[in-house]
Amino acid sequence: MELSKTFDPKSAEEHWFQLWIDRGYFKADPDREGDPFSIVIPPPNVTGQLHLGHALNVTLQDVIVRTRRMQGFNTLWVPGTDHAGIATQNVVEREIAKGGKTRHDLGRDSFVERVWKWKETYGGKILHQLRRLGASCDWSRERFTLDPGLSRAVARVFVRLYRDGLIYRGRRMINWCPRCETALSDLEVEHKDAQGHLWHIRYPLADGSGSITVATTRPETMLGDTAVAVNPADERYTALVGKKIRLPLIGREIPIVADDSVDREFGSGAVKITPAHDFNDFELGRRHHLEQISVMDTHASMNPAAGPYQGMTREQCRKQVVADLTAQDLLEKIEPHAHKLGVCSRCDTVVEPMLSDQWFVAVNKPGPNGKSLAGAAIEAVENGDTTFHPKFWENTYFSWMRNIQDWCISRQLWWGHRIPAYWCMRCEDAEPIVTEERPTACLKCGGADLRQDEDVLDTWFSSGLWPFSTLGWPDATPELKRYYPTSLLLTGFDIIFFWVARMMMLGIYCIDDRPERERVPFREVYITPLVRDQYGKKMTKSRGNVVDPLEIMEKYGTDAVRFTLAQLAVQGRDLILSDDRLAASRAFANKIWNAARFVMMNLADAPQPLKPVDPADLGLAERWILSRLDNAVREVTEAIDAYEFNRAALIVYQFIWHEFCDWYIELAKDPLKAGGASQAAARYVLVECFDRMLRILHPFMPFISEEIWQALRPYFSATDLSEHLAVAKFPTPSVTPWLSPAEETAMSSCIAATQAVNSLRSLLGWNPGQRVKIVMKRMTSDSFAQFQPWLPYLRALTKSESVMFEQVSPGRQVVFAHIERLGDVGIETPDAFDFEVARTKLRKQLDEVSKYERQHDARLKDENFTRKADPETVTETQQRREVLQGQMYLLSEQLQQLEQAN
Ligand SMILES: [Zn+2]
Ligand SMILES: [Zn+2]
Repeated sequence: MELSKTFDPKSAEEHWFQLWIDRGYFKADPDREGDPFSIVIPPPNVTGQLHLGHALNVTLQDVIVRTRRMQGFNTLWVPGTDHAGIATQNVVEREIAKGGKTRHDLGRDSFVERVWKWKETYGGKILHQLRRLGASCDWSRERFTLDPGLSRAVARVFVRLYRDGLIYRGRRMINWCPRCETALSDLEVEHKDAQGHLWHIRYPLADGSGSITVATTRPETMLGDTAVAVNPADERYTALVGKKIRLPLIGREIPIVADDSVDREFGSGAVKITPAHDFNDFELGRRHHLEQISVMDTHASMNPAAGPYQGMTREQCRKQVVADLTAQDLLEKIEPHAHKLGVCSRCDTVVEPMLSDQWFVAVNKPGPNGKSLAGAAIEAVENGDTTFHPKFWENTYFSWMRNIQDWCISRQLWWGHRIPAYWCMRCEDAEPIVTEERPTACLKCGGADLRQDEDVLDTWFSSGLWPFSTLGWPDATPELKRYYPTSLLLTGFDIIFFWVARMMMLGIYCIDDRPERERVPFREVYITPLVRDQYGKKMTKSRGNVVDPLEIMEKYGTDAVRFTLAQLAVQGRDLILSDDRLAASRAFANKIWNAARFVMMNLADAPQPLKPVDPADLGLAERWILSRLDNAVREVTEAIDAYEFNRAALIVYQFIWHEFCDWYIELAKDPLKAGGASQAAARYVLVECFDRMLRILHPFMPFISEEIWQALRPYFSATDLSEHLAVAKFPTPSVTPWLSPAEETAMSSCIAATQAVNSLRSLLGWNPGQRVKIVMKRMTSDSFAQFQPWLPYLRALTKSESVMFEQVSPGRQVVFAHIERLGDVGIETPDAFDFEVARTKLRKQLDEVSKYERQHDARLKDENFTRKADPETVTETQQRREVLQGQMYLLSEQLQQLEQAN
């Protein structure tokens, strides 16, 4: 197989991915040997489009999964999607709205059918995009949270929790979207900055002795007021506590109560309390046993309790209430007021806090084993049964879990798992019948008129079962036995609470037939960094700085995108993506490609496979590169084990680009030309290195690595060679070292000497091909002895005519550089070289750079600047100062060398 002149990512990506799938390389088999390594993918919403967050998350998962597969683990990576309740329902609602219809026109059954049809047609899109990234999931095990199997698991868990007394129905305050007509989770509410008003309303005391003024941002809710509250320490109101006021417009008498939660500084220090339409008021109302009066219906229009305002929308009602209060001279003043406004994340409608009958999971109540769901989930992390990377996220987890409230799991939607509770139409006030299968008759009266609860479950309920429902639970499947607990979960920090915490609680609760350590859904959790743009800004639609992963994959190739993401994934730090980084990764791919072409060209007449060379017959350079490769293998393995993806990528990069391409390929050029035994050795080592370095590159850049590996495969002399790189063995370092420590040192000296010669050559203004005469001096006898074998390499690398020790050709001058642990290395200069001119030039450059550096330094020392400028400008200035300081250092080094020259 030939390698074309340039790498074509597109055809390689399509070809190899299809081949891997056809060969079944990613298929898991619980019966196969090897320690299990399992991951469940965080299921993207079925409505989803691939964004950079997914691309990062899936790339890092794939790096780990491919590594573990190559290391011989019995690997399973489960893919799938989430039905995403409200998100999907809204997509289809918008679709039918184009034909002027609402879901109510269709009715529940045909609407749900419609959503299924939409899912069949469009729902696979995001998974196709994940495949394009190269995700090595077991695609034969794709799951969907509404699959029959997963739905059975959902019903089983619901019924169990209900029977254990951990699910109940209650009247609680929830966020309600009046357009979607459903309860929303906190995650589904977005908080926007809004410019509103603060209305100061006078409430007359019932005994006619005066009035108390309350301040509110929502005057229309006063119709549902059942108290006025003040701070007990607020002396302005001490005398009024316990008295009653007569609520304007409605005429209801309500008490003035004292409560610590009232902020004395807000408005007048007295607040109206509407327990049925405000979260804080609800809590305060419970403490004071206040009545809860809902004044709105499910569309947020005023209901009969709003008296004369019945039928108005909340906006109309606000206007009318303000007008009526003004007419009665009860409006003291109106102030502008900035506040946060909760809106539905799906439809942008202002959310209404409402009292509503909902289903809840009691997370703090002791279950059958005496532990609460939250308590057991906290304990598991405290015990280290599950650990977080980076570790500090455990604190976030703890603080959330220790303050957790009962979980509202019902949604008034049609798309989702319908709650398995059935109400008898004959028995009023009866408990519902909660069973997995629809019952045929009422247990109490035998009546057959049963109605299933209308609500569906919060979408996080089913995704909370994902790590075991996808493995076949509640059945005792071989998969569950082999792959649970899963090894690792990779996810974003924003869903630690919504998803990670729920999986922890439900996993430990459901998998109760195992020792405690084995109940957690995953052993480790890796929290992925946030991706930001090149200026460090968060990517948002409104900023217009969102990078589409498919676009950059098209432009730079998938391997380059994956490599960039891995290289930037530093634990605990945001990831800053720029075109420069992507271009650098593409250049890296090209560098590897060109190196492979160079090697292929030099194999034209070589036997297939190559004859292995006895290690004793390898030259120093050959043993050196094999030693460096061992080192890279060792460090990459450690970095991946520690989930330090950036470090792992950097090691691979450094080895391939610098040690292999920059140095070894240069060193191999002469032996390749020489023919005979040295040619055979160089060929063997080049091919050997390629084999192993492609194996450590593969998890990061699967496509280009497979393509090159296939081209070189006929030359590989290993006896247990797999057919494809995707299932080749991950390398381990050689047992016996290739080089002694002294030899290692000598080679680093050789590299340093070469670099010094090259920089001296450019200092003299010569082109890089110019032949030079090297002079070495001030070497210790040890370093001289150690360096002796490397002299031919130094000559080859520096293209020098000769190397002389302690002597100079008559009438010549030398510029020297000092190499640590070696001595001085210099090159002879021609007679005509004018040192003074060169020095003057350098001094001028140094002056320029120093001037700039001082300017930057002064800015950074100026508090006016550092405090007022935005942080990005400050960082940029700091970085520029560092670059300038680096330039200054180099220039003064060079100047010093020239000054030593005569
Ligand atoms: Zn909505
Ligand atoms: Zn009944």
